[in-house]
Amino acid sequence: MSGSDQVWTVLSMLEWATDYFKKRNVPDPRLSIEWIVAEALGCKRLDLYLQFERPLSSKELNKIRPLVKRRAAYEPLQYITGTAQFMDATISVNPDVLIPRIETEQLVDLLLEHFNDKKKENLNLLDIGTGSGCIPIAIKQKNPQWYCAGFDLSENAVQQAQKNAELNEVDVDFFQGNILELDTLHDTRQKSWDIIISNPPYITENEKSEMHKQVTEHEPSLALFHEKPMTLYSSIISFAASQNAALYLECNDKTAENVLQRTRGQFPHSRLFKDLDGNPRFVVSPPQ
Ligand code: GLN
Repeated sequence: MSGSDQVWTVLSMLEWATDYFKKRNVPDPRLSIEWIVAEALGCKRLDLYLQFERPLSSKELNKIRPLVKRRAAYEPLQYITGTAQFMDATISVNPDVLIPRIETEQLVDLLLEHFNDKKKENLNLLDIGTGSGCIPIAIKQKNPQWYCAGFDLSENAVQQAQKNAELNEVDVDFFQGNILELDTLHDTRQKSWDIIISNPPYITENEKSEMHKQVTEHEPSLALFHEKPMTLYSSIISFAASQNAALYLECNDKTAENVLQRTRGQFPHSRLFKDLDGNPRFVVSPPQ
Protein backbone atom coordinates (compact mmCIF):
# COMPACT_ATOMS: atom_id res chain seq x y z
CA MET A 1 0.00 0.00 0.00
CA SER A 2 3.06 2.19 -0.37
CA GLY A 3 3.35 3.26 -4.04
CA SER A 4 1.91 6.79 -3.92
CA ASP A 5 0.91 7.03 -7.61
CA GLN A 6 -0.82 3.63 -7.68
CA VAL A 7 -4.56 3.84 -8.35
CA TRP A 8 -6.41 1.79 -5.78
CA THR A 9 -9.83 0.36 -6.47
CA VAL A 10 -12.17 -1.31 -4.00
CA LEU A 11 -11.19 -4.71 -5.42
CA SER A 12 -7.43 -4.14 -5.48
CA MET A 13 -7.61 -2.95 -1.87
CA LEU A 14 -9.62 -6.02 -0.80
CA GLU A 15 -7.14 -8.33 -2.52
CA TRP A 16 -4.00 -6.59 -1.31
CA ALA A 17 -5.12 -6.33 2.32
CA THR A 18 -6.47 -9.90 2.45
CA ASP A 19 -3.03 -11.08 1.47
CA TYR A 20 -1.33 -8.69 3.91
CA PHE A 21 -3.53 -9.87 6.80
CA LYS A 22 -3.04 -13.54 5.88
CA LYS A 23 0.74 -13.15 6.07
CA ARG A 24 0.34 -11.73 9.55
CA ASN A 25 -2.10 -14.41 10.73
CA VAL A 26 -4.85 -11.89 11.31
CA PRO A 27 -8.11 -13.83 11.84
CA ASP A 28 -10.80 -13.46 9.11
CA PRO A 29 -8.53 -11.61 6.64
CA ARG A 30 -11.02 -11.00 3.82
CA LEU A 31 -13.91 -10.15 6.11
CA SER A 32 -11.66 -7.76 8.03
CA ILE A 33 -10.77 -5.63 5.03
CA GLU A 34 -14.35 -5.70 3.77
CA TRP A 35 -15.53 -4.23 7.08
CA ILE A 36 -12.76 -1.64 7.04
CA VAL A 37 -13.42 -0.46 3.47
CA ALA A 38 -17.17 -0.41 4.08
CA GLU A 39 -16.59 1.66 7.23
CA ALA A 40 -14.37 4.13 5.32
CA LEU A 41 -16.85 4.43 2.46
CA GLY A 42 -19.88 4.60 4.77
CA CYS A 43 -21.64 1.75 2.98
CA LYS A 44 -22.77 -1.77 3.78
CA ARG A 45 -20.18 -4.51 3.43
CA LEU A 46 -22.14 -6.33 0.74
CA ASP A 47 -22.50 -3.11 -1.29
CA LEU A 48 -18.76 -3.31 -1.97
CA TYR A 49 -19.53 -6.15 -4.36
CA LEU A 50 -21.43 -3.73 -6.59
CA GLN A 51 -18.51 -1.33 -6.90
CA PHE A 52 -15.35 -3.39 -7.26
CA GLU A 53 -13.90 -1.09 -9.92
CA ARG A 54 -14.63 2.11 -8.00
CA PRO A 55 -11.37 4.03 -7.44
CA LEU A 56 -10.58 5.03 -3.85
CA SER A 57 -9.89 8.72 -3.31
CA SER A 58 -6.89 9.83 -1.27
CA LYS A 59 -9.29 10.91 1.49
CA GLU A 60 -10.72 7.40 1.60
CA LEU A 61 -7.27 5.85 1.56
CA ASN A 62 -6.31 8.06 4.50
CA LYS A 63 -9.24 6.60 6.42
CA ILE A 64 -8.43 3.03 5.42
CA ARG A 65 -4.68 3.04 6.18
CA PRO A 66 -4.85 3.52 9.98
CA LEU A 67 -7.67 0.98 10.25
CA VAL A 68 -5.62 -1.61 8.35
CA LYS A 69 -2.72 -0.94 10.73
CA ARG A 70 -4.96 -1.43 13.77
CA ARG A 71 -6.28 -4.70 12.39
CA ALA A 72 -2.75 -5.88 11.55
CA ALA A 73 -1.99 -5.34 15.27
CA TYR A 74 -4.84 -7.83 15.95
CA GLU A 75 -7.33 -5.29 17.22
CA PRO A 76 -10.78 -6.93 17.03
CA LEU A 77 -12.92 -5.67 14.16
CA GLN A 78 -15.72 -4.72 16.53
CA TYR A 79 -13.44 -2.28 18.38
CA ILE A 80 -12.33 -0.83 15.04
CA THR A 81 -15.88 -0.29 13.81
CA GLY A 82 -17.14 0.42 17.36
CA THR A 83 -20.15 -1.87 17.17
CA ALA A 84 -21.22 -5.47 17.54
CA GLN A 85 -24.52 -7.16 16.91
CA PHE A 86 -26.09 -9.21 19.71
CA MET A 87 -29.41 -10.81 18.80
CA ASP A 88 -31.57 -7.82 17.74
CA ALA A 89 -29.46 -5.28 19.63
CA THR A 90 -26.74 -3.05 18.22
CA ILE A 91 -24.09 -2.84 20.91
CA SER A 92 -21.48 -0.10 21.01
CA VAL A 93 -18.19 -1.57 22.20
CA ASN A 94 -14.79 -0.29 23.29
CA PRO A 95 -11.86 -1.90 25.13
CA ASP A 96 -13.67 -1.41 28.47
CA VAL A 97 -16.15 -4.14 27.57
CA LEU A 98 -16.03 -7.67 26.27
CA ILE A 99 -17.21 -8.11 22.69
CA PRO A 100 -20.51 -10.05 22.83
CA ARG A 101 -20.08 -13.67 21.73
CA ILE A 102 -22.32 -15.84 19.62
CA GLU A 103 -22.30 -18.54 22.39
CA THR A 104 -23.86 -16.03 24.76
CA GLU A 105 -26.69 -15.57 22.26
CA GLN A 106 -27.30 -19.32 22.63
CA LEU A 107 -27.58 -18.97 26.41
CA VAL A 108 -30.07 -16.12 25.97
CA ASP A 109 -32.02 -18.20 23.43
CA LEU A 110 -32.37 -21.00 25.99
CA LEU A 111 -33.68 -18.56 28.58
CA LEU A 112 -36.18 -17.00 26.16
CA GLU A 113 -37.43 -20.44 25.15
CA HIS A 114 -37.92 -21.54 28.78
CA PHE A 115 -39.81 -18.34 29.61
CA ASN A 116 -41.78 -18.09 26.40
CA ASP A 117 -45.10 -18.50 28.24
CA LYS A 118 -44.16 -15.92 30.92
CA LYS A 119 -43.63 -12.93 28.62
CA LYS A 120 -46.60 -11.05 30.06
CA GLU A 121 -45.62 -11.57 33.71
CA ASN A 122 -43.79 -8.94 35.74
CA LEU A 123 -40.55 -10.82 36.22
CA ASN A 124 -37.27 -9.42 37.55
CA LEU A 125 -34.12 -10.41 35.69
CA LEU A 126 -30.55 -9.74 36.80
CA ASP A 127 -27.41 -10.08 34.67
CA ILE A 128 -24.31 -10.49 36.81
CA GLY A 129 -21.12 -9.08 35.21
CA THR A 130 -22.98 -7.29 32.47
CA GLY A 131 -20.08 -5.71 30.50
CA SER A 132 -21.57 -3.99 27.46
CA GLY A 133 -25.07 -4.76 28.79
CA CYS A 134 -25.80 -6.92 25.76
CA ILE A 135 -27.69 -9.64 27.67
CA PRO A 136 -30.36 -7.63 29.54
CA ILE A 137 -30.75 -5.22 26.60
CA ALA A 138 -31.47 -8.06 24.15
CA ILE A 139 -33.83 -9.70 26.66
CA LYS A 140 -35.68 -6.44 27.38
CA GLN A 141 -36.22 -5.94 23.64
CA LYS A 142 -37.99 -9.32 23.51
CA ASN A 143 -39.80 -9.04 26.87
CA PRO A 144 -40.65 -5.37 27.46
CA GLN A 145 -42.85 -6.31 30.40
CA TRP A 146 -39.92 -7.54 32.50
CA TYR A 147 -37.75 -5.45 34.81
CA CYS A 148 -34.21 -6.07 33.54
CA ALA A 149 -31.05 -5.07 35.38
CA GLY A 150 -27.33 -5.69 35.16
CA PHE A 151 -24.28 -4.81 37.17
CA ASP A 152 -20.54 -4.85 36.64
CA LEU A 153 -17.42 -4.28 38.73
CA SER A 154 -16.11 -1.80 36.17
CA GLU A 155 -17.59 1.72 36.29
CA ASN A 156 -16.60 2.24 32.65
CA ALA A 157 -18.48 -0.88 31.64
CA VAL A 158 -21.58 0.35 33.53
CA GLN A 159 -21.42 3.64 31.62
CA GLN A 160 -21.08 1.81 28.33
CA ALA A 161 -24.03 -0.45 29.19
CA GLN A 162 -26.15 2.64 30.01
CA LYS A 163 -25.16 4.13 26.65
CA ASN A 164 -26.21 0.92 24.95
CA ALA A 165 -29.61 0.90 26.65
CA GLU A 166 -30.17 4.44 25.27
CA LEU A 167 -28.91 3.44 21.84
CA ASN A 168 -31.43 0.60 21.73
CA GLU A 169 -34.17 2.69 23.36
CA VAL A 170 -34.86 0.26 26.18
CA ASP A 171 -35.16 0.84 29.88
CA VAL A 172 -32.59 -1.33 31.66
CA ASP A 173 -31.25 -0.63 35.14
CA PHE A 174 -27.41 -0.75 35.21
CA PHE A 175 -25.29 -0.24 38.31
CA GLN A 176 -21.89 -0.98 39.80
CA GLY A 177 -21.44 -4.07 41.97
CA ASN A 178 -19.24 -6.98 42.95
CA ILE A 179 -19.97 -10.66 42.27
CA LEU A 180 -18.35 -11.57 45.58
CA GLU A 181 -20.61 -9.20 47.55
CA LEU A 182 -24.04 -10.31 46.43
CA ASP A 183 -25.41 -10.22 49.97
CA THR A 184 -25.22 -6.41 49.81
CA LEU A 185 -27.31 -6.32 46.64
CA HIS A 186 -30.53 -5.98 48.54
CA ASP A 187 -29.31 -2.63 49.93
CA THR A 188 -28.71 -1.39 46.37
CA ARG A 189 -31.89 -2.66 44.76
CA GLN A 190 -34.89 -3.69 46.86
CA LYS A 191 -35.84 -6.55 44.57
CA SER A 192 -36.28 -10.26 44.60
CA TRP A 193 -34.99 -11.81 41.41
CA ASP A 194 -36.86 -14.40 39.33
CA ILE A 195 -34.11 -15.00 36.78
CA ILE A 196 -30.36 -14.72 37.17
CA ILE A 197 -27.99 -14.92 34.23
CA SER A 198 -24.22 -14.57 34.14
CA ASN A 199 -21.23 -14.93 31.86
CA PRO A 200 -18.55 -14.28 34.51
CA PRO A 201 -14.78 -14.12 33.92
CA TYR A 202 -13.98 -17.83 33.92
CA ILE A 203 -10.51 -18.12 32.36
CA THR A 204 -7.47 -18.59 34.59
CA GLU A 205 -4.23 -16.73 33.80
CA ASN A 206 -2.42 -19.97 32.95
CA GLU A 207 -4.82 -20.57 30.06
CA LYS A 208 -3.84 -17.21 28.57
CA SER A 209 -1.01 -18.63 26.45
CA GLU A 210 -3.50 -20.80 24.52
CA MET A 211 -5.51 -17.75 23.48
CA HIS A 212 -5.21 -15.49 20.45
CA LYS A 213 -3.57 -12.08 20.81
CA GLN A 214 -6.72 -10.59 19.33
CA VAL A 215 -8.40 -11.43 22.64
CA THR A 216 -5.62 -11.23 25.23
CA GLU A 217 -4.06 -7.98 24.01
CA HIS A 218 -7.25 -6.05 23.36
CA GLU A 219 -10.23 -7.23 25.39
CA PRO A 220 -10.47 -6.28 29.09
CA SER A 221 -8.66 -8.72 31.41
CA LEU A 222 -11.23 -7.99 34.10
CA ALA A 223 -13.95 -9.44 31.86
CA LEU A 224 -11.98 -12.53 30.85
CA PHE A 225 -9.73 -13.69 33.66
CA HIS A 226 -10.12 -14.61 37.29
CA GLU A 227 -7.72 -16.34 39.63
CA LYS A 228 -10.49 -18.52 41.09
CA PRO A 229 -13.51 -18.62 38.78
CA MET A 230 -15.26 -21.17 41.01
CA THR A 231 -15.52 -18.62 43.82
CA LEU A 232 -17.52 -16.42 41.43
CA TYR A 233 -19.80 -19.28 40.38
CA SER A 234 -20.33 -20.34 44.01
CA SER A 235 -21.32 -16.82 44.98
CA ILE A 236 -23.80 -16.58 42.08
CA ILE A 237 -25.27 -20.05 42.74
CA SER A 238 -25.85 -19.36 46.48
CA PHE A 239 -27.40 -16.01 45.65
CA ALA A 240 -29.72 -17.57 43.06
CA ALA A 241 -30.71 -20.22 45.61
CA SER A 242 -31.52 -17.50 48.18
CA GLN A 243 -33.83 -15.92 45.59
CA ASN A 244 -35.24 -19.22 44.35
CA ALA A 245 -34.47 -17.87 40.89
CA ALA A 246 -34.02 -19.69 37.60
CA LEU A 247 -30.33 -19.67 36.78
CA TYR A 248 -28.43 -19.38 33.47
CA LEU A 249 -24.64 -19.64 33.60
CA GLU A 250 -22.04 -19.57 30.86
CA CYS A 251 -18.80 -21.46 31.47
CA ASN A 252 -16.12 -23.23 29.42
CA ASP A 253 -15.34 -26.90 28.92
CA LYS A 254 -12.79 -26.76 31.76
CA THR A 255 -15.22 -25.41 34.35
CA ALA A 256 -18.49 -26.97 33.09
CA GLU A 257 -18.55 -30.20 35.13
CA ASN A 258 -17.55 -28.39 38.32
CA VAL A 259 -20.14 -25.65 37.79
CA LEU A 260 -22.81 -28.30 37.12
CA GLN A 261 -22.01 -30.18 40.34
CA ARG A 262 -22.10 -27.00 42.42
CA THR A 263 -25.32 -25.86 40.83
CA ARG A 264 -26.90 -29.29 41.42
CA GLY A 265 -26.03 -28.92 45.12
CA GLN A 266 -28.68 -26.16 45.26
CA PHE A 267 -30.78 -26.94 42.20
CA PRO A 268 -30.91 -30.76 41.70
CA HIS A 269 -32.61 -30.55 38.29
CA SER A 270 -29.85 -28.38 36.71
CA ARG A 271 -28.69 -29.32 33.23
CA LEU A 272 -25.61 -28.87 31.10
CA PHE A 273 -26.03 -27.65 27.51
CA LYS A 274 -23.48 -27.69 24.69
CA ASP A 275 -22.59 -24.90 22.28
CA LEU A 276 -22.80 -25.25 18.49
CA ASP A 277 -19.31 -26.79 18.41
CA GLY A 278 -20.43 -29.49 20.84
CA ASN A 279 -18.53 -28.10 23.85
CA PRO A 280 -20.26 -28.09 27.27
CA ARG A 281 -20.86 -24.39 27.89
CA PHE A 282 -24.07 -23.64 29.75
CA VAL A 283 -25.34 -24.73 33.15
CA VAL A 284 -29.01 -24.04 33.51
CA SER A 285 -31.51 -24.42 36.29
CA PRO A 286 -34.78 -23.79 34.42
CA PRO A 287 -37.97 -22.46 36.04
CA GLN A 288 -39.93 -25.06 38.00
N1 GLN B 1 -22.30 -10.15 30.02
C1 GLN B 1 -21.38 -9.68 29.03
C2 GLN B 1 -21.28 -10.65 27.87
O1 GLN B 1 -21.70 -11.76 27.98
C3 GLN B 1 -19.99 -9.44 29.63
C4 GLN B 1 -19.37 -10.66 30.22
C5 GLN B 1 -18.05 -10.37 30.88
O2 GLN B 1 -17.60 -9.22 30.91
N2 GLN B 1 -17.43 -11.41 31.39
O3 GLN B 1 -20.80 -10.33 26.83
